[in-house]
Amino acid sequence: MAPITKECDYLVIGGGSGGLASARRASGQWGAKTIAVESGRLGGTCVNVGCVPKKVTWNAAAIAETLHEAKAYGFSVKETAPFDWTTFKHKRDAYIKRLNGIYAKNLENDKVEWLYGRAHLVSKNEVEVDLHDGGKETIRAKKILIATGGHPIIPKNIPGSELGITSDGFFELEKQPEKVALVGAGYIAVEMAGMFHHLGSETHLFIRHDKFLRAFDPMIQDKIISEYERQGIIMHRNSSQSKIEKTEKGLKVYYSDSKTKEGTLDLDCLLWAIGRAPEVEDLGLDKAGVEQNDRGQIIADDYQNTNVENVYSLGDVCGKIELTPVAIAAGRQLSNRLFGGPEHKNAKLDYENIPSVVFAHPEVGSIGMTEPAAREKYGEKVKVYNKDFTAMYYAMMDPEDKPPTSYKLICVGPEEKVVGLHILGSGSSEMLQGFGVAVKMGATKKDFDSCVAIHPTSAEELVTLK
Ligand code: FAD
Ligand code: NDP
Repeated sequence: MAPITKECDYLVIGGGSGGLASARRASGQWGAKTIAVESGRLGGTCVNVGCVPKKVTWNAAAIAETLHEAKAYGFSVKETAPFDWTTFKHKRDAYIKRLNGIYAKNLENDKVEWLYGRAHLVSKNEVEVDLHDGGKETIRAKKILIATGGHPIIPKNIPGSELGITSDGFFELEKQPEKVALVGAGYIAVEMAGMFHHLGSETHLFIRHDKFLRAFDPMIQDKIISEYERQGIIMHRNSSQSKIEKTEKGLKVYYSDSKTKEGTLDLDCLLWAIGRAPEVEDLGLDKAGVEQNDRGQIIADDYQNTNVENVYSLGDVCGKIELTPVAIAAGRQLSNRLFGGPEHKNAKLDYENIPSVVFAHPEVGSIGMTEPAAREKYGEKVKVYNKDFTAMYYAMMDPEDKPPTSYKLICVGPEEKVVGLHILGSGSSEMLQGFGVAVKMGATKKDFDSCVAIHPTSAEELVTLK
C-alpha cells in the first residue's frame, strides 16, 4: 500500500452541495482539520449542471412568457422577439465560472484544504486521490464523508440511445434546437420541456404512462399536463422508443404512443430525463465494506451513518430526497454532530415535510402528504380544501390564454392540522417557503384563516379557503 501523504480529522469526497457544506461547517465553525476532494467543478451538480443554470434558463423562459403577455397589457412588443441562445449560454457559463471561483474562495476562508482529483477508498479510513495534475495522495482520515452525488441515466436497451443527450448536455447546447423531444416524467423532463417550449423550440414530451410528476398530488398531475397541452407542448402518452437513428439533419426516433401504433419523428435533439444513478463506480466501496441498496445507492440512516463506523454518506448518492438544500442541511447537521461537542450530539436533519418546487410553466410547489397518501393513512379524518381560479394578472388576457392557478390544502382531524399543501400557478415557488414554515410548525386550518389576507394576491386564496 502507498505511504500515507496526508492525515486529517475529516475527509470529504465530493465538492458538491452536501460535501462543501459539511466540510466548511466542520472546519470553519468547529475547527476540524478537513480535506475535501472534488474531481470535477466545485459546487457539484447544482452549481454546474443543475439548479443554478436551470433557474437562469427558466428566468429567460419566464421573460419570453412575459413578452407574450405584455401585449395584453397594451405594449406593442413583437411576440416573437428573437432569443439569442448562444449569447445567453455563454453569459450563463461565465456566471457559473464566477461561482466556481467563489466556492474555492469560501473553502479557503474556512480553512478547508481542497484537492482536485478523483478519490477511491482503499480501506475504511484511507483514501487514495488521483490528482488531475498527475500526482497522487494517500490520505488517512479519522472520519470520511461520501457525498459523490449522481449522474443522469441513458437507457441501455434502445439502439442509438447514446445519440440523445441528458440534462448535462442541455447546458452544453450551443444552438437552440428547432425541434426537440424529451423522454421522462419527473422534475427534469417537465422543467426542461417548459423551458424549450417558451423559448420557441417545437417540443415533444414522451411519457411512458398517462401522466407525469406521478409522485405529486393528482391535482398537480392533472392540471399541469393539461396546461402543457394547452400551451402547445406535444405530449406522447403511454409511449416507448424502439430505436434512434442519426440522419443528415439530426435524429430520427422510432416510437409508439397511445395515438400512434408505430411512428417516427425527425428531431434536432433528443433529451433523456429518466432519472439519475449514484456516482459510485470507482469509489472502492467494497474495500471499506460500505453497503449499497439494489439501485447502488449508499445506505445511510437518518444520522447519515453508513454500516461502517466513521464512514458517513448523504445527498444524491444516497438517493433519499435529491434536492440541494437537503444535501446542504444534512451535511451541516452531520458536522455539527461529529465536531460540535455534546450540545450537538443528536444533531440530524428532519426529513419530514421538506418543501419542493418544480420550475414548470406555471410553477408547482408541494409540501407534506398527497391526498391519496393522507386518505390511506387517516381515512375519514381527512378534509380537503380546493380552489381553482384565474390569477388577477391574467385578467387582461384573452379567455383562451389564461393559465390556471390551483391550490389544495389537506387537513386531518377535528383540529384540521395541515398535513399537505399543493400549489400550482405563477409565483408558487416564492410562496411556498413561507407556507412551508407554517406546515412545519404544525399549523391548522384555523391558523391559516386567522392570518389576514394580503389583497390582491393569489396567495390570499390559501388563507380564505372554504
Ligand atoms: P453533487 O452536487 O452532485 O456533488 C457531488 C460531487 O462529487 C460532484 O461534484 C462530483 O464531481 C464529485 N465526485 C463524484 N465522485 C467523486 C470521486 N470519486 N472523487 C472526487 N469527487 C467526486 N435541486 C434543488 O433543490 N432545486 C433545483 O432547482 C434543482 N434543479 C436541478 C436541476 C437539474 C438539471 C439536476 C440534475 C438536479 C437539480 N437539483 C435541484 C438536484 C440537486 O442538484 C442535487 O440534489 C444536489 O446537487 C445534490 O448534492 P450532492 O452534494 O449530493 O451531489
Ligand atoms: P426523477 O426520478 O424525478 O424522474 C424520472 C422519471 O422518468 C421517473 O420517475 C419515471 O416516471 C420516468 N422514467 C423512468 N424510466 C423511464 C423510461 N425508461 N422511459 C420513460 N420514462 C422513464 O428524475 P429526474 O431525472 O427528473 O430528476 C432527478 C432528481 O433531481 C429529481 O428526483 C429531483 O429530486 C432532482 N431535481 C429537482 C429539481 C427541483 O427541485 N426543481 C429539478 C430537477 C431535478 P414514470 O414512472 O412516471 O414513468
